[in-house]
Amino acid sequence: MISLEKLLRPNIRQLKPYSSARDEYKGVEAHVFLDANENPFNAPINRYPDPLQLQLKQKLSVIKGVRPACIFMGNGSDEAIDLVYRAFCRPGVDNVVAIDPSYGMYQVCADINDVAYRKVLLDENFQFHADDLLKAADGNTKAIFLCSPNNPTGNSLCEVEIEKLLRQFEGIVVIDEAYFDFSNHATFSHRLDEYPNLIVLQTFSKAWGCAAIRLGMAFASEEIIAVFNKIKYPYNVNQLTQQEALKALEHVDAVKEWVRILKAERSRLMDALRELSVTEKVFETDANFVLVRVTDAVAIYNYLVGRGIIVRNRHRVSLCAQCLRITVGTPEENDELLEAMKAYHETETINQ
Ligand SMILES: *Cc1c(COP(=O)(O)O)cnc(C)c1O
Repeated sequence: MISLEKLLRPNIRQLKPYSSARDEYKGVEAHVFLDANENPFNAPINRYPDPLQLQLKQKLSVIKGVRPACIFMGNGSDEAIDLVYRAFCRPGVDNVVAIDPSYGMYQVCADINDVAYRKVLLDENFQFHADDLLKAADGNTKAIFLCSPNNPTGNSLCEVEIEKLLRQFEGIVVIDEAYFDFSNHATFSHRLDEYPNLIVLQTFSKAWGCAAIRLGMAFASEEIIAVFNKIKYPYNVNQLTQQEALKALEHVDAVKEWVRILKAERSRLMDALRELSVTEKVFETDANFVLVRVTDAVAIYNYLVGRGIIVRNRHRVSLCAQCLRITVGTPEENDELLEAMKAYHETETINQ
């Protein structure tokens, strides 16, 4: 990796960050707080939250096996994605490389930050080749985005190719592991010492069942996390979110149980989808959703909407023509979806 100093945008390297009242005084012995212009009434939400979420990070550190100094917490992992651009990419000058198809926010954040987004198409097995991404990169490529298991395809990316990219690319490699809890693959978050250019993203929005609280995590070297802390909004994770997350971390067993149920339902759903006459292909998945190629994605999507069932139409996405992305729901929800898809076939047959 080229030095972090060289990778960073010059204005970020030189930035003197905002220093909040909570940054300047961190002790716990005091009992009169007249430093932040807060209202002394309306406890407990009258006080600003911990800007660095230390209690949360300490607990998470034990569960994730990552040191607190190597953890960033944000308003969804979307915040961390945006910070990658704001930290490293000069608008109108630098670019990033990403696999295609993948999660839409990488491109949206690139566009917002006026950073060129270079897409490299996956192969027919939805895999990437490190050499193709390296070829697409140039001296102004600051980051490469990978997503494993990938959204919307569902498959995990080849570990050997990921390692090759981490070794050979001089800039930042982001691996988005939003769906890693549903896979049987190892996380890259335990290999931060091996790869100083690695940023791993995870989230409370999927396996943890906490999409509403907006909480995402980035795991990276202490130096990269220090940069994120410097440029983030001072109180980016609100107190209610921190409290809910602390509660969630007390229920790791519930999360494991949800994941177990969802993985079993995923297999059942995939088998049942394969039996439907509207199904052309059910793709292998390591996530809590299934990509399915059907006879007519738009018609089936609209039919399902009419029955109050919403799936994601991915027909217009690269390599996903005629594909629907179906999230694994409760057993009852999955049954309702399967019934509806069967009924669609029957109405079609009658109409012909
Ligand atoms: C759902 C999802 C996320 C989660 O984003 P949050 O902002 O944490 O809710 C991140 N990456 C991918 C690929 C996703 O599909």
